[in-house]
Amino acid sequence: MTQETFATPEAHTIRIYNALILPLTESDVTAKPLVIEGELQIADDRITYVGNSADAPVSTQWDREIDACGNVIMPGFKNAHTHSGMTFLRSYADDLPLQQWLYDKVFPLEAAMTAEDVYWSSRLAILEYLTSGITANFDMYQKTESIVQASIDSGFRTVLCGSVNNFVSSPAELEQQYLRYNDTDPLISFQLGFHAEYTTDEKLLRKIAALSQRYSAPVYTHSSETASEVADCIKRHGATPTVYLNRLGMFEHGGGGFHCVHMTEEDLDICLSGGLWVITNPSSNLKLASGIAPLTRMLRNGIRLAIGTDGPASNNCLDMFREMFLTTALQKVQDQDASAMDADVVLRMAASNGAHAMCLPDCDSLAPGKQADLIMLDLHQPNMQPVNEISKNIVYSGSKQNVKLTMVAGKILYENEKFHLDEDPERIYAKVNETIHRITRS
Ligand SMILES: [Zn+2]
Repeated sequence: MTQETFATPEAHTIRIYNALILPLTESDVTAKPLVIEGELQIADDRITYVGNSADAPVSTQWDREIDACGNVIMPGFKNAHTHSGMTFLRSYADDLPLQQWLYDKVFPLEAAMTAEDVYWSSRLAILEYLTSGITANFDMYQKTESIVQASIDSGFRTVLCGSVNNFVSSPAELEQQYLRYNDTDPLISFQLGFHAEYTTDEKLLRKIAALSQRYSAPVYTHSSETASEVADCIKRHGATPTVYLNRLGMFEHGGGGFHCVHMTEEDLDICLSGGLWVITNPSSNLKLASGIAPLTRMLRNGIRLAIGTDGPASNNCLDMFREMFLTTALQKVQDQDASAMDADVVLRMAASNGAHAMCLPDCDSLAPGKQADLIMLDLHQPNMQPVNEISKNIVYSGSKQNVKLTMVAGKILYENEKFHLDEDPERIYAKVNETIHRITRS
């Protein structure tokens, strides 16, 4: 597949017609997704109309009209947990025990990264998000300014997640970032966060909890990813990470945990009562042999779920189709129940729930007034035919090859295997290759 850049004229008003639209606007999340045969209209960064063409406002002034040829239009996927700056580490160190992978391979190389390295790695990640139909990412990484610049230069939507730990950043810097990046650019926002209980001392954690209370803001962190992490936390604090952090007042304004593989009933009670998000990362949990998160138990308990890819060092690809398939298939195996985790639920987790988990309520569905963050999926390919049930096709047989168009804030950034960006993808690939070669040579 060739992927080229080409300039596209600014289009402020766009009409996409002859489409099969999945707006994902239902309040009943167990209902079959509504399918509308019709059109969608966009002015600048917002959707102005979704419905059948007979009732649609008529205009002769469109900057662009797109015949969807009967293809699917739906909200873009939200990658609710990732580390975009790690793309330079893709396939550099695999098939190693977890601790050896992390301490011998990942941490030393990350320590040598410059701000420019993070910029190009993030740009590479964004290219991959666009090809996978992802329209926003929840990104925890260092050298935040580089991530922000990469997103703005790409026209991509990023929610930054604080990454405080004993070695990187501080609660004071976290507060500065929170105030600065929630007032920088409409594509950028920032949520409070820290790396994990096992990398962050209690003194720092208490200061982060105090920030959450000062700003009535949610807090996010890696939590209960491995059995040993939970056992060590119990040894240190006499409680699981979820219970311990909750005792510190960390979740009084919500937030969530990335991974949440090894969770007790008490942990789940805290998630439910605190309205916390669980963001699952099935590929990473499999590849690092961490385990399978008890998602069906969480769903039964009413806990809210979203999906992330985790970073490209542990996955190694940033592909929401693969994550959706694993999210459902692993639950079926774990529960020994082929009816577990319906594809419709998984589709909503990937496209709508992620938006709410990342505090992007305007990006969750396709309706007038919402952000025009959407994708077109090609049904005119063998893996999408016949169309008996469109949501099942997307989750069970869909793939990146079906992503025909990715739009963020009303701008088409990827279309028919070409990027509409300011930068040649080949230059981005070269820059990231330079990074890994320089760091491994030094
Ligand atoms: Zn992670």
